[in-house]
Amino acid sequence: VIFCDANAGWTPFQARQFADATRGIDYTFEQPCTTLEENMSVRRMLDKPMVLDESVTSLEEMLEIHRLGAADGLTLKISRLGGVTRTRQIRDVAVDLGFMITVEDTGGAEIDTAAMAHLSLSTPEERRLHAIAFHEWVTVRTAANKPPVTGSRMGIPDGPGLGIDVVPDLLGKPFFAIG
Ligand SMILES: [Mg+2]
Repeated sequence: VIFCDANAGWTPFQARQFADATRGIDYTFEQPCTTLEENMSVRRMLDKPMVLDESVTSLEEMLEIHRLGAADGLTLKISRLGGVTRTRQIRDVAVDLGFMITVEDTGGAEIDTAAMAHLSLSTPEERRLHAIAFHEWVTVRTAANKPPVTGSRMGIPDGPGLGIDVVPDLLGKPFFAIG
């Protein structure tokens, strides 16, 4: 499974050159350009699935992507969308609208990856694309346990909530305490 993700870094000219040079390869094109208009101009000549990531900043933008037919799938990043609840809301509407879904984030350790894993695995299986075990990319440990990874598959840790045992020292002083 190949995703070619330009992270909004190309002009439509560059994206078209890339698409033309890789015509014989089976892959999904992810966010080649910055604006919806630029990505639409690439999509019109593309014979491959398109996923948008950086363009998905809110429920409103997701609905605009749907209205334009600008993508087959979406990458939903928890921090960019305002947290787990907002991401779930957008994910649920996006699934109803027929999008394929990846839930990830801009990076993170066990806490963030656990949230990603829960949101990914609560997406209907037929609509899931992929996920990333970001906690394996960083050296800070934010929880004593972590989402289990077996080969190329990730699960969710056992336990209430996100299922993780947060390392309290990393959190600093609490904003408030309930006794
Ligand atoms: Mg991306």
